[in-house]
Amino acid sequence: MSTKLTYCQIESAVHEAYESCKSMKGGQNAHYIPYLANVDSDLFGISLCLPDGHVVSVGDTDYVLGIESVSKVHTAILVLRQLGARALLEKIGADATGLPFNSIFAILLENERPSTPLVNAGAITACSLVQPSGDEEAKWQAILGNMTELMGSTPRVIDELYASESETNFNNRSIAWLLKEYDRIYDDPMEALDLYTRQCSLGVTAEQLAISGATIATDGKNPVTGTQVFDASLAPKIISLMTAVGFYQRTGDWIYETGLPAKTGVGGAVMGVMPGLFGVCAFAPPLDEAGNSVKAQAALHSIMSTLGINVFSNTKYEIAGC
Ligand code: GLN
Repeated sequence: MSTKLTYCQIESAVHEAYESCKSMKGGQNAHYIPYLANVDSDLFGISLCLPDGHVVSVGDTDYVLGIESVSKVHTAILVLRQLGARALLEKIGADATGLPFNSIFAILLENERPSTPLVNAGAITACSLVQPSGDEEAKWQAILGNMTELMGSTPRVIDELYASESETNFNNRSIAWLLKEYDRIYDDPMEALDLYTRQCSLGVTAEQLAISGATIATDGKNPVTGTQVFDASLAPKIISLMTAVGFYQRTGDWIYETGLPAKTGVGGAVMGVMPGLFGVCAFAPPLDEAGNSVKAQAALHSIMSTLGINVFSNTKYEIAGC
């Protein structure tokens, strides 16, 4: 089956989602990172980027938010680019943990790999794998350069957030040392942790995340800059990781309900990828108990239902003019 979607339909679905969710209450800001606890809870925005680079934005989409765990997607792409799909599977894995993002128990349950680059343990391992090994500053430049290519513009570290996370990340320090104990980290553990903390502290806009989602949706070609950022064969790999674990212990419910592969962060962003159609980011700071933005989830759910689309459906979608 093939279905035509017009630009106007997509644009009005974004506006409808914004209007229907904007006064929604529920959830609370990430309380364990002091900087995030103090961000304005009423911020809300949605950006959607189409394959021709056209961006639809509504609400606070130029607010600079903490990227947090959405960055795990970008650095997993970097590891795929530098080392290939096989190495990522062998050294990190592609399994859902079914447990919270910062779970130590998940590390103890796994035998030889941290499961997935989209939870804290696997993301710290991913930072340890970034090349060139043994040179933290050069690794950081590789992480930032990859983000810049995916987003089409350079994100900047929010210094206050980086300081706030670095002072309070005791659980993540335990994870890094536990990975070392189990030989699942491939460079200095504290440097890998620092790279992870820095990447989580990057400030980005919903618009930048929507563009990076669209780069994944269009097989690695950034639709705004026109640059082929990564090999098209890697797009299904990164989308499968997002589908399997993007919402941690809530992932099955999410993907069953919405049919949208997506990844959340405790800064309040959710970045979604609809292959061939769009990248999207909804952002609102208050989170549910799994650390996923309440309003952003509702907004993306609304867009998918209004358009009647689903990544698993046997329908070929085509985008047409209005
Ligand atoms: N920096 C946060 C942490 O390590 C990211 C968690 C998240 O966004 N789920 O806890």
